[in-house]
Amino acid sequence: DSVGIAIVGLGDYALKQIMPRVDQTDRVHIAALVSGNPDKLREVGEAYGVPRSSRYSYDNFASIAQNEDVDAVYIILPSGLHAEWAERAFAAGKHVMSEKPMALSTQECERMIAAGRRANRKLMIGYRCHFEPYNLKAMELMREGAVGTPRLFRTEHSYRAGPTTPSENWRFNRALAGGGPLEDYGIYGLQAALYLSGEMPESISGTTFQPANDPRFAEIFAHTAAQLRFPSGAVAQIATSYDSAGRNMAEARGTTGSLSMEPATGYSGNTLEVTSGGNTQSYDPGESTVQFARMLDHFADAIRDGTEIITPGEMGLRDLALMEAIYASAKTGRTVKIGRNGRYEL
Ligand code: NAD
Repeated sequence: DSVGIAIVGLGDYALKQIMPRVDQTDRVHIAALVSGNPDKLREVGEAYGVPRSSRYSYDNFASIAQNEDVDAVYIILPSGLHAEWAERAFAAGKHVMSEKPMALSTQECERMIAAGRRANRKLMIGYRCHFEPYNLKAMELMREGAVGTPRLFRTEHSYRAGPTTPSENWRFNRALAGGGPLEDYGIYGLQAALYLSGEMPESISGTTFQPANDPRFAEIFAHTAAQLRFPSGAVAQIATSYDSAGRNMAEARGTTGSLSMEPATGYSGNTLEVTSGGNTQSYDPGESTVQFARMLDHFADAIRDGTEIITPGEMGLRDLALMEAIYASAKTGRTVKIGRNGRYEL
């Protein structure tokens, strides 16, 4: 009762991270491939033993509806294409896993959720850190009060991008990447602030920076930062950049200690330390790389056994709502109140 998935988009993340890990799952197999590049389709199809009849172009994708080996579609395309492809996959009667960010606006996320409901199919977002041992251990430690009462969270997700342009690289193209680093990379810090605190913010202030005369940032922001205030009084500061030396870090500081992760949300090699009462303890909860297979098996369990998805479309929607709040605050220069489901009020 293995779940057959069709991989849509044969880019870096699909080819280097997801597809090589499918073998490590208990109940998922690659049943089909969808790509706009016929050469890649043939090469990858042969490497993974996907029969010719299960290799689709973007144009003949609709016929996947008749392919009974395919239960679900995993969308690993540029972020601005997730919504359209989720709708196409649901229309074909398949379950959907979408990469993060779920889409580029709350409207798109709502369309995806509605399409899934109409089709009576599952929708999951590829938030791999919810299946990653270090992040799971950190959530547990925070719930157990390892730092006392949390007061301050800080996250940074940055790297410096080489020369490029919006037409050369989709990550720098507004239609495909939204505001840029926040949707792509800062989303990890935003998520960590929420799952480490266990709270939703009551207000947010944000700021963005788009330097003039830099072709990389003709359409997107070079960096975005935000401060989230939680109902408990704790504050989270999240920063993300495509134009500063690389860092991937999350920390929580409370009344009696601190928890720190660096790298915090990587594919592998994450670290976790808690300092409290003058002692520092390092944790080694297991290989970070199991996150990919565990995420895929979780999706398979939901499809086969009807178990609850812990990273559903609603979580992706919530995160887009918070990003819209950050951008609205940056644009108006005002702190915005956060209402139900992360929606902002000016
Ligand atoms: P990539 O550029 O390596 O791959 C994108 C693929 O989409 C390419 O094969 C490209 O040919 C194809 N494509 C189809 N239509 C396109 C268009 N109009 N413009 C550009 N490319 C088009 O990107 P990637 O790094 O694999 O990212 C793909 C998705 O996966 C993104 O949504 C990204 O946020 C997500 N991602 C997630 C993680 C994670 O850790 N969860 C890591 C990397 C990427």
